[in-house]
This record gives sequence, C-alpha cells and structure tokens, in this order.
Amino acid sequence: MKNNWSQNSAEKYLKKYKNIGFSKDLALRVYTTRLLGRNKELVLHGGGNTSVKTTAKDIDGKKYDVLCVKGSGWDMADIEPEGLPAVKLEPLLALKKKKYLSDEDMVSFQKRNLINIKSPNPSVETFLHAFLPFKFVDHTHADAILNVTNRPGGLKFCNKIFNNKVSVVPYIMPGFKLAKKVNEIYSKNPNINCLILMNHGIFTFGDDAKETYDLMIKYVSQAERAVKKLKVKKIKQINKFSTKFNAHEISPIIRGLLSDNNPDQKFIVNYELNYHIKYFMNRINLRTYSSKGTVQHNHVIRVKTCTLI
Ligand code: ZN
Repeated sequence: MKNNWSQNSAEKYLKKYKNIGFSKDLALRVYTTRLLGRNKELVLHGGGNTSVKTTAKDIDGKKYDVLCVKGSGWDMADIEPEGLPAVKLEPLLALKKKKYLSDEDMVSFQKRNLINIKSPNPSVETFLHAFLPFKFVDHTHADAILNVTNRPGGLKFCNKIFNNKVSVVPYIMPGFKLAKKVNEIYSKNPNINCLILMNHGIFTFGDDAKETYDLMIKYVSQAERAVKKLKVKKIKQINKFSTKFNAHEISPIIRGLLSDNNPDQKFIVNYELNYHIKYFMNRINLRTYSSKGTVQHNHVIRVKTCTLI
C-alpha cells in the first residue's frame, strides 16, 4: 500500500488551519485523517475513526486536556476540525476501572463531557481512543486486515504475520466492553504500537501524526503481502455469463418495487459492473455466499446484509 504522506501538503495544512485559529495538533489530525479516508482500501464512506489528545479552553477560561475524536455523521475523506469534537479527557479516564457501562449511558456520558454541546456525537470507539495513552490514534477497517482476520485460523495467521509490537484482540462489539479489553491488553504489553481486532480492523498509535499514519500503511502492507503469498483457489464460475437485461430496463422495475413498499420515498438506482462484481455474481453457490452478510459491522451502512439476485 502506498504511503501518501507529503511534507509539503502537511505544511500547507498547518498554515491553512493556523490562519483560521486551529492548533498544529488539529491541523495534522485533519491531514492524516483525510489521507486515510481517501484510500478506499482503508476506509469506506463513514467508516473508521481517528483522534488526537490535545488541550482546549472551556467557557470558564480554563484549559482542559481533551480528546478530539471523529464525530458521527462525518466522513474521514473530507473531515474538518468541527468533525472532531473535543471531549474532556479526565472524566473519560476516570471510568477506566468501571466494570460495566451500557451503550446509552456511554453515549450520554460522552455527550455530557463535550466542550461544545452542539458538536456531533463522539464515536462509539471514543473510550478506546481515550484509554490508549498516545497523542495520535488511527483506526480503519482496512480490506487487507479483514482479509487476514476473517478466515478460519485467522487469529493464528495474524500472530504469524505481525511482530511483537502488535497485539491481536478477539472480536467484541464496539463500545465500552471493547475499550476495557483493549486497555487490559495494552496494560500487559505497553510496547505495542498496533492492535489487530479480529473481524473488525486495525488501530495504530504514536505521539506523532506521521509516525502513526506510517504504522497504518506498514501493517496493512504486511497483511497485503501475506494474502498475496496464499495460494488461493479460483472460485468456480458458472460457464456462460449472459446479461438478460440492461440497466435501463431493470432499473424502473426495481424502483417501482421499492416505491410500492415505501410510497413516500423516491429511489435512485446506481448501476455498476466490473471484474470483481462479475466474479462474485458468476460464482457457483452464489446463494450461499451472497447471504453470508458483510465482512465487518461498518459495511452494513452501505452494503447491507441481503443481496437481491
Ligand atoms: Zn471500528
């Protein structure tokens, strides 16, 4: 995977955001968040998140340690500082020892500790970011990482691919429980700079924006190389591919059926066909494969779990 860091671009971001009143920390956070978000093999629209630990002034005039973490509704590809709401760090860290926190309480606690109440809701992975004691934390659901985790013997495979600076975390739904688990794993191995989350994605962390981004590219590249080395059997294809309908013929039918069930909504059909889609459509046992669900929870936003064949 190509490393897209450019010192020149980084300096442009620093200059631009300084002129409109944002710190160096936030300028660099915006820059590398966009670098990650603009790579489709790392981040699908709305997926992944990043954070930076910095300081912010509240209305009382006091400076607080804060965690600026991606807010919901923002896409990493075109994030702005407003998309990284500042949450007071101390109250988050005070819950390190708490045994259980419901999703509802977690969201309201995060909201209550925002510097600006009008900010978007901080990510569900906020506590995880807070508990890792590094300035920069980058998180993606990279294709290559899912490719190595979502397979029989995935855990063993990951331990073989990555060095001792990487810990592999079993699957836990994002939320407070996952944050606690990550904190526990980190406490036992404070030398790590990366976490691979089974069936979920990857976290890299460091005290420098570039270093943290570099680690992401490095580990994703290692996963890519490991996958390339595997001897993957070609999936058997149905012999003849024949398209019976053109997009313009089938679209009105799909739109009509959708509108039948949703009379107040109008639908737009997006048509795409490429090598990968053909390979997927023409495989033997398509029915089984196509109803397996998505490879990762974030994909449910766009891909959904059921396919119309
Ligand atoms: Zn995630």
